[in-house]
Amino acid sequence: MDLPATPPFVLRGRLLTPLGGGGTRFERDGLLAVDAGGRITFAGAAGERADLIEGALDVRPWVLLPGMVDLHAHLPQLPNAGLGAGMDLLAWLERYIFPLERAFDVPTAERVAPAAWRAFAAAGTTTALVYGAVYEASLDATFRAAEAHGIRAIVGKVMMDRVTYDPTIDPSSILDRTLAESARLIERWHGAADGRLRYAVTPRFAVSCTAELLRESAALAASTGAYWQTHVSEDQGEIAEVARLFPEAIDYVDVYDRAGGLGERSVLAHAVHLSDRELSRLVETGTRVAHCPISNLFLASGVMPLGRYLDAGLSVGLGSDVAGGPDLSIFSVMRVGFYAQNARRVAGFETGPVLSPLDWIRLGSMAGAEALGLEDAIGSLETGKEADVIAVDPAFIAPISGIADEDPDDLASRLIFRAHPDMVRAAWVRGRRLEGPGAMVTPP
Ligand SMILES: [Zn+2]
Repeated sequence: MDLPATPPFVLRGRLLTPLGGGGTRFERDGLLAVDAGGRITFAGAAGERADLIEGALDVRPWVLLPGMVDLHAHLPQLPNAGLGAGMDLLAWLERYIFPLERAFDVPTAERVAPAAWRAFAAAGTTTALVYGAVYEASLDATFRAAEAHGIRAIVGKVMMDRVTYDPTIDPSSILDRTLAESARLIERWHGAADGRLRYAVTPRFAVSCTAELLRESAALAASTGAYWQTHVSEDQGEIAEVARLFPEAIDYVDVYDRAGGLGERSVLAHAVHLSDRELSRLVETGTRVAHCPISNLFLASGVMPLGRYLDAGLSVGLGSDVAGGPDLSIFSVMRVGFYAQNARRVAGFETGPVLSPLDWIRLGSMAGAEALGLEDAIGSLETGKEADVIAVDPAFIAPISGIADEDPDDLASRLIFRAHPDMVRAAWVRGRRLEGPGAMVTPP
Protein backbone atom coordinates (compact mmCIF):
# COMPACT_ATOMS: atom_id res chain seq x y z
CA MET A 1 0.00 0.00 0.00
CA ASP A 2 1.39 3.39 -0.99
CA LEU A 3 1.81 6.25 1.42
CA PRO A 4 -1.16 8.60 1.15
CA ALA A 5 -0.65 11.55 -1.20
CA THR A 6 -3.78 13.43 -0.19
CA PRO A 7 -6.15 13.47 2.79
CA PRO A 8 -8.13 11.89 4.33
CA PHE A 9 -6.00 9.12 5.81
CA VAL A 10 -5.09 7.38 9.04
CA LEU A 11 -1.50 6.36 9.86
CA ARG A 12 -0.52 3.91 12.55
CA GLY A 13 3.02 4.41 13.83
CA ARG A 14 5.10 5.58 16.73
CA LEU A 15 4.06 9.09 17.60
CA LEU A 16 6.29 11.72 19.19
CA THR A 17 5.16 15.31 19.54
CA PRO A 18 5.52 18.28 21.83
CA LEU A 19 2.16 19.54 23.09
CA GLY A 20 0.94 23.09 22.69
CA GLY A 21 0.25 23.38 26.41
CA GLY A 22 3.67 21.98 27.39
CA GLY A 23 5.04 18.48 27.76
CA THR A 24 5.32 15.71 25.22
CA ARG A 25 3.12 12.94 23.91
CA PHE A 26 4.78 9.66 23.00
CA GLU A 27 2.86 6.60 21.80
CA ARG A 28 4.68 3.41 20.85
CA ASP A 29 1.53 2.35 19.02
CA GLY A 30 -0.14 5.54 17.90
CA LEU A 31 -2.70 6.69 15.38
CA LEU A 32 -2.82 9.90 13.42
CA ALA A 33 -6.11 10.60 11.66
CA VAL A 34 -6.37 13.38 9.08
CA ASP A 35 -9.66 14.55 7.56
CA ALA A 36 -10.37 15.53 3.96
CA GLY A 37 -9.53 19.15 4.77
CA GLY A 38 -6.04 18.20 5.96
CA ARG A 39 -6.79 18.64 9.67
CA ILE A 40 -5.84 16.26 12.45
CA THR A 41 -8.92 14.64 13.95
CA PHE A 42 -7.06 12.26 16.24
CA ALA A 43 -3.47 11.91 17.47
CA GLY A 44 -3.01 9.41 20.26
CA ALA A 45 -2.83 5.80 21.36
CA ALA A 46 -4.16 3.19 18.95
CA GLY A 47 -5.88 1.53 21.90
CA GLU A 48 -8.10 4.56 22.40
CA ARG A 49 -9.60 4.40 18.91
CA ALA A 50 -10.01 0.76 17.87
CA ASP A 51 -12.54 1.98 15.26
CA LEU A 52 -9.75 3.73 13.32
CA ILE A 53 -7.29 0.84 13.23
CA GLU A 54 -8.86 -1.11 10.39
CA GLY A 55 -8.62 1.74 7.90
CA ALA A 56 -5.14 2.79 9.01
CA LEU A 57 -1.94 2.39 7.03
CA ASP A 58 0.51 0.72 9.40
CA VAL A 59 3.92 2.38 9.06
CA ARG A 60 5.38 1.06 12.34
CA PRO A 61 8.17 1.27 13.39
CA TRP A 62 8.34 4.63 11.65
CA VAL A 63 8.05 7.63 13.95
CA LEU A 64 5.50 10.34 13.19
CA LEU A 65 6.55 13.84 14.26
CA PRO A 66 5.35 17.36 13.53
CA GLY A 67 7.15 18.86 10.54
CA MET A 68 10.12 20.97 11.54
CA VAL A 69 10.09 24.78 11.31
CA ASP A 70 13.16 26.50 9.86
CA LEU A 71 13.07 30.15 10.95
CA HIS A 72 16.03 31.29 8.88
CA ALA A 73 17.49 30.27 5.51
CA HIS A 74 18.59 31.89 2.25
CA LEU A 75 17.16 29.99 -0.68
CA PRO A 76 19.41 31.42 -3.45
CA GLN A 77 22.50 30.48 -1.41
CA LEU A 78 21.75 26.76 -1.33
CA PRO A 79 24.05 25.96 -4.31
CA ASN A 80 27.06 27.28 -2.31
CA ALA A 81 26.24 25.39 0.90
CA GLY A 82 29.42 24.12 2.50
CA LEU A 83 31.78 26.76 1.09
CA GLY A 84 33.84 29.18 3.18
CA ALA A 85 34.10 27.53 6.60
CA GLY A 86 35.71 29.76 9.18
CA MET A 87 35.64 32.96 7.11
CA ASP A 88 34.51 36.25 8.63
CA LEU A 89 30.92 37.06 7.80
CA LEU A 90 31.55 40.17 5.70
CA ALA A 91 34.38 38.57 3.71
CA TRP A 92 32.31 35.41 3.17
CA LEU A 93 29.38 37.47 1.83
CA GLU A 94 31.65 39.16 -0.72
CA ARG A 95 33.38 35.94 -1.81
CA TYR A 96 30.64 33.31 -1.88
CA ILE A 97 27.23 34.89 -1.44
CA PHE A 98 26.80 38.16 -3.29
CA PRO A 99 27.97 36.69 -6.64
CA LEU A 100 25.46 33.87 -6.27
CA GLU A 101 22.58 36.17 -5.34
CA ARG A 102 23.51 38.63 -8.10
CA ALA A 103 23.05 35.81 -10.62
CA PHE A 104 19.70 34.70 -9.18
CA ASP A 105 17.57 35.67 -12.15
CA VAL A 106 14.29 34.02 -13.14
CA PRO A 107 15.79 31.03 -15.03
CA THR A 108 18.09 30.38 -12.08
CA ALA A 109 15.20 30.69 -9.62
CA GLU A 110 13.12 28.32 -11.74
CA ARG A 111 15.93 25.78 -11.57
CA VAL A 112 17.03 26.23 -7.94
CA ALA A 113 13.78 26.92 -6.07
CA PRO A 114 11.92 23.66 -6.85
CA ALA A 115 15.02 21.66 -5.86
CA ALA A 116 15.43 23.76 -2.72
CA TRP A 117 11.84 23.17 -1.57
CA ARG A 118 12.28 19.43 -2.16
CA ALA A 119 15.51 19.55 -0.15
CA PHE A 120 13.76 21.28 2.76
CA ALA A 121 11.07 18.59 2.77
CA ALA A 122 13.67 15.83 2.51
CA ALA A 123 15.33 17.25 5.61
CA GLY A 124 12.01 17.13 7.49
CA THR A 125 11.21 20.85 7.28
CA THR A 126 7.59 21.60 6.39
CA THR A 127 7.63 25.33 7.23
CA ALA A 128 10.44 27.64 6.17
CA LEU A 129 11.00 31.35 6.63
CA VAL A 130 13.47 32.28 3.92
CA TYR A 131 15.25 35.14 2.20
CA GLY A 132 15.18 35.34 -1.59
CA ALA A 133 17.41 37.54 -3.75
CA VAL A 134 16.82 41.21 -4.61
CA TYR A 135 14.91 40.74 -7.88
CA GLU A 136 11.13 40.93 -7.79
CA ALA A 137 10.61 38.48 -10.66
CA SER A 138 12.87 35.89 -9.04
CA LEU A 139 10.68 36.08 -5.93
CA ASP A 140 7.61 35.35 -8.04
CA ALA A 141 9.40 32.29 -9.41
CA THR A 142 10.39 31.22 -5.88
CA PHE A 143 6.80 31.58 -4.64
CA ARG A 144 5.41 29.75 -7.68
CA ALA A 145 7.73 26.85 -6.92
CA ALA A 146 6.54 26.76 -3.30
CA GLU A 147 2.93 26.93 -4.44
CA ALA A 148 3.44 23.94 -6.71
CA HIS A 149 5.51 21.96 -4.23
CA GLY A 150 3.16 22.27 -1.29
CA ILE A 151 5.58 23.38 1.44
CA ARG A 152 4.50 26.07 3.91
CA ALA A 153 6.74 29.02 3.10
CA ILE A 154 7.27 32.59 4.18
CA VAL A 155 9.56 34.37 1.76
CA GLY A 156 10.89 37.88 1.28
CA LYS A 157 12.77 39.88 -1.30
CA VAL A 158 16.08 41.03 0.14
CA MET A 159 16.21 44.83 0.47
CA MET A 160 19.53 46.70 0.44
CA ASP A 161 20.13 50.35 -0.31
CA ARG A 162 23.84 50.36 0.39
CA VAL A 163 26.47 47.66 -0.18
CA THR A 164 24.04 46.19 -2.68
CA TYR A 165 24.94 43.72 -5.41
CA ASP A 166 22.09 44.65 -7.74
CA PRO A 167 23.74 46.00 -10.93
CA THR A 168 20.43 47.07 -12.47
CA ILE A 169 19.60 49.61 -9.87
CA ASP A 170 20.11 53.36 -9.76
CA PRO A 171 21.34 54.25 -6.25
CA SER A 172 19.22 57.39 -6.16
CA SER A 173 15.94 55.51 -6.68
CA ILE A 174 16.71 52.26 -4.91
CA LEU A 175 14.64 52.95 -1.80
CA ASP A 176 11.39 53.72 -3.59
CA ARG A 177 11.91 50.86 -6.00
CA THR A 178 12.63 48.16 -3.44
CA LEU A 179 9.64 49.28 -1.34
CA ALA A 180 7.32 49.26 -4.35
CA GLU A 181 8.54 45.81 -5.41
CA SER A 182 8.05 44.45 -1.90
CA ALA A 183 4.56 45.94 -1.71
CA ARG A 184 3.57 44.29 -5.01
CA LEU A 185 4.94 40.94 -3.84
CA ILE A 186 2.93 41.24 -0.61
CA GLU A 187 -0.20 41.84 -2.65
CA ARG A 188 0.43 38.81 -4.81
CA TRP A 189 1.71 36.33 -2.24
CA HIS A 190 0.95 37.23 1.38
CA GLY A 191 -1.78 34.76 2.33
CA ALA A 192 -1.72 32.91 -1.01
CA ALA A 193 -2.57 29.20 -1.28
CA ASP A 194 -5.15 29.65 1.47
CA GLY A 195 -2.57 31.10 3.86
CA ARG A 196 0.11 28.48 3.21
CA LEU A 197 2.33 31.13 1.59
CA ARG A 198 3.16 34.38 3.34
CA TYR A 199 5.45 37.32 2.91
CA ALA A 200 8.24 38.67 5.08
CA VAL A 201 9.56 42.16 4.44
CA THR A 202 13.30 41.52 4.38
CA PRO A 203 15.88 44.29 4.86
CA ARG A 204 19.09 42.26 4.78
CA PHE A 205 20.79 43.78 7.85
CA ALA A 206 21.84 47.13 9.20
CA VAL A 207 25.17 47.09 7.33
CA SER A 208 23.43 47.11 3.95
CA CYS A 209 20.39 49.26 4.85
CA THR A 210 20.00 52.94 5.65
CA ALA A 211 17.92 54.03 8.64
CA GLU A 212 15.28 55.20 6.17
CA LEU A 213 15.00 51.81 4.47
CA LEU A 214 14.77 50.07 7.83
CA ARG A 215 12.01 52.46 8.94
CA GLU A 216 10.03 52.29 5.69
CA SER A 217 10.30 48.50 5.51
CA ALA A 218 9.03 48.13 9.06
CA ALA A 219 6.13 50.47 8.25
CA LEU A 220 5.30 48.38 5.17
CA ALA A 221 5.22 45.19 7.24
CA ALA A 222 3.08 46.83 9.93
CA SER A 223 0.56 48.22 7.44
CA THR A 224 0.14 44.95 5.54
CA GLY A 225 0.40 42.35 8.33
CA ALA A 226 3.44 40.80 6.68
CA TYR A 227 6.36 39.54 8.75
CA TRP A 228 9.60 41.52 9.07
CA GLN A 229 12.93 39.71 9.13
CA THR A 230 16.56 40.67 9.29
CA HIS A 231 19.86 39.71 10.97
CA VAL A 232 21.23 41.03 14.27
CA SER A 233 24.42 40.74 16.30
CA GLU A 234 25.97 37.87 14.38
CA ASP A 235 29.70 38.54 14.56
CA GLN A 236 32.05 41.12 16.06
CA GLY A 237 33.17 42.66 12.76
CA GLU A 238 29.55 43.21 11.75
CA ILE A 239 28.65 44.66 15.17
CA ALA A 240 31.54 47.13 14.95
CA GLU A 241 30.48 48.16 11.43
CA VAL A 242 26.90 48.77 12.58
CA ALA A 243 28.16 50.92 15.46
CA ARG A 244 30.17 52.96 12.93
CA LEU A 245 27.22 53.35 10.54
CA PHE A 246 24.65 54.20 13.23
CA PRO A 247 26.50 56.34 15.81
CA GLU A 248 23.20 57.67 17.16
CA ALA A 249 21.98 54.19 18.19
CA ILE A 250 22.63 52.85 21.71
CA ASP A 251 23.50 49.40 20.29
CA TYR A 252 22.65 47.05 17.41
CA VAL A 253 19.14 46.19 18.63
CA ASP A 254 18.45 49.91 19.05
CA VAL A 255 19.05 50.42 15.31
CA TYR A 256 16.00 48.25 14.61
CA ASP A 257 14.08 49.61 17.58
CA ARG A 258 14.39 53.17 16.22
CA ALA A 259 13.13 51.90 12.87
CA GLY A 260 10.01 50.41 14.47
CA GLY A 261 11.19 46.94 13.51
CA LEU A 262 10.78 45.12 16.82
CA GLY A 263 7.63 43.17 17.72
CA GLU A 264 5.81 39.88 17.55
CA ARG A 265 5.83 39.71 13.73
CA SER A 266 9.59 40.25 13.58
CA VAL A 267 12.16 37.46 13.37
CA LEU A 268 15.80 38.40 13.92
CA ALA A 269 18.43 35.85 12.98
CA HIS A 270 21.46 35.03 15.17
CA ALA A 271 21.43 37.49 18.12
CA VAL A 272 24.61 35.82 19.34
CA HIS A 273 26.19 38.69 21.28
CA LEU A 274 23.28 40.55 22.93
CA SER A 275 23.88 42.85 25.88
CA ASP A 276 21.45 42.66 28.81
CA ARG A 277 19.80 45.83 27.52
CA GLU A 278 19.33 44.38 24.05
CA LEU A 279 18.00 41.12 25.44
CA SER A 280 15.43 42.79 27.65
CA ARG A 281 14.31 45.05 24.80
CA LEU A 282 13.72 42.02 22.54
CA VAL A 283 11.78 40.30 25.34
CA GLU A 284 9.72 43.43 26.10
CA THR A 285 8.71 43.86 22.48
CA GLY A 286 7.99 40.15 21.90
CA THR A 287 10.54 40.03 19.08
CA ARG A 288 11.42 36.52 17.85
CA VAL A 289 14.93 35.16 17.41
CA ALA A 290 16.12 32.47 15.00
CA HIS A 291 18.96 30.57 16.65
CA CYS A 292 21.38 29.27 13.99
CA PRO A 293 24.14 27.39 15.84
CA ILE A 294 25.56 25.58 12.80
CA SER A 295 26.05 28.84 10.93
CA ASN A 296 27.45 30.54 14.03
CA LEU A 297 30.19 27.91 14.30
CA PHE A 298 30.73 27.50 10.52
CA LEU A 299 31.51 31.21 10.23
CA ALA A 300 33.11 31.37 13.70
CA SER A 301 30.62 34.02 14.76
CA GLY A 302 30.16 32.89 18.35
CA VAL A 303 28.07 30.71 20.64
CA MET A 304 24.68 32.01 21.78
CA PRO A 305 24.18 32.02 25.57
CA LEU A 306 20.91 30.19 25.03
CA GLY A 307 20.16 29.45 28.69
CA ARG A 308 20.43 33.13 29.62
CA TYR A 309 18.10 34.10 26.76
CA LEU A 310 15.49 31.46 27.58
CA ASP A 311 15.60 32.39 31.29
CA ALA A 312 14.89 35.97 30.26
CA GLY A 313 11.79 34.81 28.36
CA LEU A 314 13.04 35.38 24.81
CA SER A 315 11.08 33.65 22.02
CA VAL A 316 13.66 31.42 20.28
CA GLY A 317 13.26 28.96 17.41
CA LEU A 318 15.83 27.30 15.16
CA GLY A 319 17.25 28.22 11.77
CA SER A 320 19.57 26.43 9.35
CA ASP A 321 20.81 29.73 7.87
CA VAL A 322 21.78 27.91 4.71
CA ALA A 323 24.30 28.75 3.33
CA GLY A 324 25.89 30.31 6.43
CA GLY A 325 25.03 26.86 7.75
CA PRO A 326 25.91 24.03 5.34
CA ASP A 327 23.06 21.74 6.41
CA LEU A 328 19.30 22.20 5.90
CA SER A 329 18.32 19.68 8.55
CA ILE A 330 16.81 21.15 11.70
CA PHE A 331 17.79 17.91 13.46
CA SER A 332 21.42 18.74 12.58
CA VAL A 333 20.85 22.25 13.92
CA MET A 334 19.67 20.73 17.21
CA ARG A 335 22.72 18.49 17.39
CA VAL A 336 25.23 21.29 16.81
CA GLY A 337 23.26 23.54 19.14
CA PHE A 338 23.46 20.93 21.86
CA TYR A 339 27.21 20.47 21.32
CA ALA A 340 27.74 24.24 21.35
CA GLN A 341 25.93 24.55 24.69
CA ASN A 342 28.07 21.67 26.01
CA ALA A 343 31.15 23.60 24.89
CA ARG A 344 29.94 26.55 26.97
CA ARG A 345 29.62 24.11 29.85
CA VAL A 346 33.18 22.84 29.35
CA ALA A 347 34.35 26.47 29.33
CA GLY A 348 32.60 27.05 32.65
CA PHE A 349 29.72 29.24 31.41
CA GLU A 350 26.99 26.68 32.18
CA THR A 351 26.65 24.29 35.09
CA GLY A 352 24.53 21.64 33.35
CA PRO A 353 22.70 20.82 30.12
CA VAL A 354 20.79 23.87 28.92
CA LEU A 355 18.06 21.81 27.26
CA SER A 356 17.15 18.12 27.07
CA PRO A 357 16.79 16.35 23.70
CA LEU A 358 13.00 16.67 23.93
CA ASP A 359 13.41 20.39 24.62
CA TRP A 360 15.45 20.68 21.42
CA ILE A 361 12.74 18.85 19.43
CA ARG A 362 10.25 21.38 20.81
CA LEU A 363 12.53 24.27 19.82
CA GLY A 364 12.62 22.98 16.23
CA SER A 365 8.87 22.50 15.94
CA MET A 366 6.43 24.03 18.45
CA ALA A 367 8.68 26.99 19.39
CA GLY A 368 9.19 27.75 15.71
CA ALA A 369 5.43 27.74 15.17
CA GLU A 370 5.00 30.07 18.15
CA ALA A 371 7.66 32.41 16.79
CA LEU A 372 5.60 32.73 13.61
CA GLY A 373 2.29 33.14 15.47
CA LEU A 374 1.16 29.84 13.91
CA GLU A 375 0.92 27.85 17.15
CA ASP A 376 -2.79 27.23 16.67
CA ALA A 377 -2.21 25.71 13.23
CA ILE A 378 1.09 23.80 13.33
CA GLY A 379 4.06 22.80 15.51
CA SER A 380 2.59 19.67 17.10
CA LEU A 381 0.42 16.68 16.28
CA GLU A 382 -2.82 17.53 18.10
CA THR A 383 -6.49 17.36 17.24
CA GLY A 384 -7.67 20.41 15.34
CA LYS A 385 -4.27 21.37 13.94
CA GLU A 386 -3.31 21.20 10.29
CA ALA A 387 -1.55 17.95 9.41
CA ASP A 388 2.06 19.07 8.86
CA VAL A 389 3.71 15.75 9.58
CA ILE A 390 6.94 13.88 8.90
CA ALA A 391 7.67 10.16 9.12
CA VAL A 392 11.15 9.07 10.23
CA ASP A 393 12.48 5.57 9.64
CA PRO A 394 14.34 4.53 12.81
CA ALA A 395 16.42 2.02 10.83
CA PHE A 396 18.60 5.02 9.90
CA ILE A 397 19.17 6.25 13.45
CA ALA A 398 19.59 2.89 15.20
CA PRO A 399 20.63 0.43 12.47
CA ILE A 400 22.19 -2.17 14.74
CA SER A 401 20.12 -2.14 17.91
CA GLY A 402 16.90 -0.91 16.35
CA ILE A 403 14.53 0.99 18.59
CA ALA A 404 12.18 -1.03 20.72
CA ASP A 405 10.72 0.40 23.87
CA GLU A 406 12.80 3.49 24.23
CA ASP A 407 11.46 6.31 26.32
CA PRO A 408 10.72 9.55 24.47
CA ASP A 409 13.87 11.34 25.65
CA ASP A 410 16.01 8.47 24.34
CA LEU A 411 14.19 8.54 21.02
CA ALA A 412 14.64 12.32 20.79
CA SER A 413 18.32 11.85 21.57
CA ARG A 414 18.71 9.38 18.69
CA LEU A 415 16.80 11.65 16.30
CA ILE A 416 19.21 14.46 17.10
CA PHE A 417 22.55 12.71 17.55
CA ARG A 418 22.05 9.98 14.95
CA ALA A 419 20.20 12.16 12.44
CA HIS A 420 20.71 10.77 8.93
CA PRO A 421 20.11 12.63 5.64
CA ASP A 422 17.73 9.91 4.43
CA MET A 423 15.85 9.22 7.66
CA VAL A 424 12.81 11.33 6.73
CA ARG A 425 10.80 9.00 4.50
CA ALA A 426 7.73 11.19 4.00
CA ALA A 427 6.44 14.68 4.73
CA TRP A 428 2.95 16.16 4.49
CA VAL A 429 1.61 19.71 4.72
CA ARG A 430 -2.14 19.92 5.38
CA GLY A 431 -2.21 16.20 4.67
CA ARG A 432 -0.72 16.60 1.18
CA ARG A 433 2.46 14.66 0.64
CA LEU A 434 5.50 16.69 -0.38
CA GLU A 435 8.06 15.68 -2.99
CA GLY A 436 11.60 15.34 -1.69
CA PRO A 437 11.83 12.72 1.05
CA GLY A 438 13.08 9.40 -0.22
CA ALA A 439 14.05 10.83 -3.60
CA MET A 440 17.19 12.85 -2.98
CA VAL A 441 19.68 10.53 -4.64
CA THR A 442 19.83 11.13 -8.37
CA PRO A 443 22.42 9.62 -10.73
CA PRO A 444 25.13 11.98 -12.08
ZN1 LIG B 1 21.22 34.64 7.29
